Amino acid sequence: MSAELPTLNDPPPAAGRSEAIGPGSVCLGCTYDLTGLMPHGQCPECGKPIAESLSGDLLAFADAEWLRRTHRGLRRVTRAVLLPVLFACLSIIGAVLLSVAVDSATPSKAVKSFISGLLMVLFWINVVVLACAPFVGLHGWFTATTLEPGRHDERADRVRRFVRWSAVVWLALTLASLGGLGSYSLVGPGAGTYAFWMSWSVLAAAAAFHYWYAMSFVRLLANRVPAPRLTRQARTARFGLVIATTAGMLVCGLGPIGAFIYYLAVIDTAHSSLKPVVRRRGQV
Ligand SMILES: [Zn+2]
Repeated sequence: MSAELPTLNDPPPAAGRSEAIGPGSVCLGCTYDLTGLMPHGQCPECGKPIAESLSGDLLAFADAEWLRRTHRGLRRVTRAVLLPVLFACLSIIGAVLLSVAVDSATPSKAVKSFISGLLMVLFWINVVVLACAPFVGLHGWFTATTLEPGRHDERADRVRRFVRWSAVVWLALTLASLGGLGSYSLVGPGAGTYAFWMSWSVLAAAAAFHYWYAMSFVRLLANRVPAPRLTRQARTARFGLVIATTAGMLVCGLGPIGAFIYYLAVIDTAHSSLKPVVRRRGQV
């Protein structure tokens, strides 16, 4: 990390000012207009130290509740994928072990039907969990990208909104193409194959669009931690994920899978990078 970058231990840059605040500054706690007040005082509305509202972009001085939500949302995005996959893996292992046990023990008819019923229940729980996971992930993105109180940054706001809409479009197209999968087999190999590749291309484009804005969002957060490594990682990932998702389709279709895993890894890193800042804010 270069020497001029601010750290979490620095005091808010505005703390040393002694002149009254000019127009255009609002309290980050309640958006109260701070014009004419002294920087070392407290917000007359909510009591938040004014210096924190004037301290620029560092997340260490951002609205604590918003920061917690962002952190929580990012965690939900990754967990919405990882937990169902883990659950499915454990279920498969459990089912295999159970089947082996049943085969070797030759139990009564009642026990056999009970176990096959149990396996069916386990299967359907997995189906429901997997079906809910994308919506939990979407909710995670909406939580992570809530409007930051008292901060007026047009670029950040645009990125925030695009992350949300691209996630919605991606999920809607995924569901639509899953619904279409059944109909491809009805259409027949010729037209069916064409429709299949068309829907894959549209899905890849939607994913690439979402990746671009999700990585832009992570980069904006990383700038404000500050976490220079994550900033670079997110910047590279913006291009890398788009290329892997589109051109990577040609490599046995593995590009999009790799891109999705890397996308989750960057979000997980972002979540970990926010953790110390959130923890520190929790103690203030
Ligand atoms: Zn206030």
